[in-house]
Amino acid sequence: MLNADLHCHSNVSDGTLSPEDVAARAQRNGVALWSLTDHDEVGGQHRARAAAAALGMGYLPGTEISVTFLHKTVHIVGLGFDPDNAQLRQGLADTRGGRERRARDMADELAKAGIPGAFEGALKYVGNPDLISRTHFARYIVETGACADPHEVFRRYLAEGKPGFVPHRWASLKDAVHWITGAGGIAVIAHPGRYDFTPNEEYALFSEFKAHGGQAVEVVTGSHTVPEYQEYADMAREFDLLASRGSDFHDPTESHTDLGTLPNLPGRLTPVWEALADRVLHP
Ligand code: AMP
Ligand code: MN
Ligand code: MN
Ligand code: MN
Repeated sequence: MLNADLHCHSNVSDGTLSPEDVAARAQRNGVALWSLTDHDEVGGQHRARAAAAALGMGYLPGTEISVTFLHKTVHIVGLGFDPDNAQLRQGLADTRGGRERRARDMADELAKAGIPGAFEGALKYVGNPDLISRTHFARYIVETGACADPHEVFRRYLAEGKPGFVPHRWASLKDAVHWITGAGGIAVIAHPGRYDFTPNEEYALFSEFKAHGGQAVEVVTGSHTVPEYQEYADMAREFDLLASRGSDFHDPTESHTDLGTLPNLPGRLTPVWEALADRVLHP
């Protein structure tokens, strides 16, 4: 099967490598079709595409949109769209818009929890001032010595219900899917195994996503366990969705799944890249 990695991040969002360095790492690891999917942002797309072309990899434009669905944050990946589409760009800009306010509120809460200076601290790790994220706070809190690694920071401070968590209203599911499809792309439910939905809520997510025009789901991702590959392969078949595969790579030391190293998709699924064949940018 084609080594496709259609989910990862650069320092244009909360990854640590430049788009060019992510491209080089993907190519070294054998990736033949790549997509850079920075959170709520397409600012790295032209650089990623040029880097992929120079390295001989196929490329699909990508992004990962933050959505609020049933009071929880859900991520919707978009693939194969026109990165210059005005409506998509405006939608992403609006989605990014509340991040600085949220970050200041998070820093206030963290100060009360004994971690002062977190806004300025997190900013030191930010590559794109429009995109300050919890990941940047996590890196700063590790630097202070309060936690050993980012996972511990999330567990103790940044996950829902913890002292540094500030509820936030992201894009609607309908808008996110429409921005992607309106720009000629395919919308993908990212890492469905990561959401704490009940079976009924998960069913609602998949049905509403489809009703809005969503066409694919991540089955094999760095955020899924091996049993979840089978579980979401079954969901893809049940909902007649295309299947995607992506590492969700952010950083060489933080990420437990490296670019291009995931197992193949399970059988009896249609890979999303087959439906996007005419949108792949060839070197
Ligand atoms: P934000 O968009 O600012 O809410 O940040 C979300 C990002 O935080 C995700 O894209 C992940 O990169 C990271 N993240 C979320 N949960 C965890 C976790 N438990 N451990 C490490 N990173 C996480
Ligand atoms: Mn992230
Ligand atoms: Mn995600
Ligand atoms: Mn991601």
